[in-house]
Amino acid sequence: MHNPKKSPINFEVIAQDGEARAGILNTRRGLIETPVFMPVGTAGTVKGIRFEELESKDLDARIILGNTYHLWLRPGVETIKACGGLHRFIGWDRALLTDSGGFQVWSLGALRKISEEGTEFRSHVDGSLRFLSPEVAMEVQAALGSDIVMVFDECAPGKATHDEARASLELTARWAKRSRERFDQLQGDGSDKGAIGPTQPEELSGAQALFGIVQGAGHRDLRHESLARTVEIGFDGYAIGGLSVGEEKSVMWDVVDEVAPLMPPGRPRYLMGVGTPEDLIEAVARGVDMFDCVLPTRNGRTGQAFTSQGKLNIKNAQWTEDQRPLDDSCACSVCQRHSRAYLRHLHQSGEMLAGILLTHHNLAFFLDTMRRVRQSIRSGDFPKFRRKFIERLSASGE
Ligand SMILES: [Zn+2]
Repeated sequence: MHNPKKSPINFEVIAQDGEARAGILNTRRGLIETPVFMPVGTAGTVKGIRFEELESKDLDARIILGNTYHLWLRPGVETIKACGGLHRFIGWDRALLTDSGGFQVWSLGALRKISEEGTEFRSHVDGSLRFLSPEVAMEVQAALGSDIVMVFDECAPGKATHDEARASLELTARWAKRSRERFDQLQGDGSDKGAIGPTQPEELSGAQALFGIVQGAGHRDLRHESLARTVEIGFDGYAIGGLSVGEEKSVMWDVVDEVAPLMPPGRPRYLMGVGTPEDLIEAVARGVDMFDCVLPTRNGRTGQAFTSQGKLNIKNAQWTEDQRPLDDSCACSVCQRHSRAYLRHLHQSGEMLAGILLTHHNLAFFLDTMRRVRQSIRSGDFPKFRRKFIERLSASGE
């Protein structure tokens, strides 16, 4: 079995306020303060923003996501290998987490066929028949050279019956074991292509880390069982998967309430695909350390800003001559320089700068919110911060 003492990442909880934890996650590509929000870089790019901006003081993103499914289909593993791994290919020296592709192939619905061995589906890029399994997902992620690798899992629909969710959980448990075994083999044979970054001529000392995923849909007993079986295999961190897939919000909180406090305290806890700013705060209050979500980037491209007073739709005519920034209390470079009136004009004119500027502000808002969350946990003020943050968000009424 995996020896947890030899974990390639080191995680230390430095402050706790109720269930909320502030910690330091030490990866082979530097320190990440938690709770952390990870911008999503699906196809080797966080859409609409340059890497310099992600590294800038405004954002200071320490870790971003890459997507196994998308990168595997295009440009393909051979290309990324030939270009020295994903870090070097995209020009990013900080940490990368890659998801396993399990969620994307699951999302294909009727277009995919799941068997014990893995999932068969047609590529959305060229229509070719492809097969993704735990072993392939580990091989692709080794070639990408991400710093945190996710196991290949099967996701049950949010409203899955107990029987359906159990079958899915059993399959996920068997796939987790196969993922662990193939991952361990690959770490020993030099398949990890992430050891060299764009500005790092020397190999990094550490290996890749592997996270397990807890499934079980909205059924508490199955979530417990999935957690126990995942911990038994042994991983460097643990994720809660299968939420934000069409279930009621109350089901999500029920699961997080139940599962998060039982997850191994010395390992990072990652809530996959969540969420809005208020979701992040609420999950932190339940003991979660890591998040990813496409909302700040996707909504930025469609004209929606997240602000400390709630969502703001830049299309609205009421901003036509409004000289105020998107958010009075945001220190980002977009809010320092541009008015709502100008941003609305850009959006109405179909200018690409509209999406770029809104994406920048949205990411700055998410990342700054997490910075404040960490500070409040460290100073023992998290409950007050949480109350005020939620009050302010709901005061705007949109
Ligand atoms: Zn801003």
